[in-house]
Amino acid sequence: MKKHNFYAGPSILTPYTIQKTADAVINFADTGLSLLEVSHRSKEFQAVIDEAAALTKELLNVPEGYHVLFLGGGASLQFCMLPFNLLKKKAAYINTGTWATNAIKEAKLFGEVEVVASSEDTKFNYIPKDFVIPADADYFHYTSNNTIYGTETRKDYDSPIPMICDMSSDIFSREFDVSKYDAIYAGAQKNLAPSGVTIVIIKEDALGHVDRPIPTMLDYRTHIKKGSMFNTPPVLPIYSALMTLRYYKEQGGVKEMERRDLEKAAMLYDEIDRNKLFRGTVAEEDRSIMNVCFVMNPEYAELEKDFFDFATSKGMVGIKGHRSVGGFRASLYNALPKESVQALIDCMKEFEAKH
Ligand SMILES: *Cc1c(COP(=O)(O)O)cnc(C)c1O
Repeated sequence: MKKHNFYAGPSILTPYTIQKTADAVINFADTGLSLLEVSHRSKEFQAVIDEAAALTKELLNVPEGYHVLFLGGGASLQFCMLPFNLLKKKAAYINTGTWATNAIKEAKLFGEVEVVASSEDTKFNYIPKDFVIPADADYFHYTSNNTIYGTETRKDYDSPIPMICDMSSDIFSREFDVSKYDAIYAGAQKNLAPSGVTIVIIKEDALGHVDRPIPTMLDYRTHIKKGSMFNTPPVLPIYSALMTLRYYKEQGGVKEMERRDLEKAAMLYDEIDRNKLFRGTVAEEDRSIMNVCFVMNPEYAELEKDFFDFATSKGMVGIKGHRSVGGFRASLYNALPKESVQALIDCMKEFEAKH
């Protein structure tokens, strides 16, 4: 039976990415060696990381003065690495979910953190709108897509101070203005590659302004100087990332990804709103186009497990909601085909007809 992969992360990759990665695991760039056993210093791998950085710059319109890095440690390492390098006295954060909460916790180790707004009081089911970004903070940090709660900010904020954004789960799903940011980071395992690599886009001028000593591995300047090869980088995820980037480019770039993502999300939200059994969990204007969270309507609450089993029997995988929200979450990342969204919608309709 065909499986429809709605996992939140690690998550679906394009068939192109998986096939090309599999090919390279057998024979990488005609070296007669596996990608798993070649030196990261080989000219063949150097070409991979160079092209991956160049394509990231091209697809995201990264201006001069910025560096694209491929680092280990996950997005979670960036929660501390960014304030380590950029927080002098005070930083402003908006708390929109679990990942933002984790980022705030780490930043507090390096200075004062002003949480300018939070939606924690209502279990993060909306994005706060009425807040002021303090002009005297070193930077403003936000999470563009809240993977667990299914809310998203799809517009760059206007900020009087440098911005930093955790785009782990929606990078490459919309065009955005890199020049508005000092740093952007994204764990690869949501919309790009297998887990193990994090893309960091950082502005050169943002660095070198803090007084504290920074351990070599946690200093962005180390990785800039060494082209993400100060130490052994995650070779395989970087290779897969390059394959996905090539695919994005060939398909029409980020603009086309966004068009498809908007269409897929609209299809599923329309069904959630129409179907008497289900309802969405977040404010309509803040709905994520990447992670669609929904629950049974209260009068059908007892059907939750039945629907899960029914959908599973039809090939749906990974639709269980995060343990902190319950219900269901369907992640509709770039690699997910429209047919899979339609298959889930068909399940919802069929299940409704039975009850
Ligand atoms: C998954 C996720 C993270 C954590 O990523 P790791 O690579 O596991 O550290 C951070 N932020 C967001 C928005 C995420 O979706």
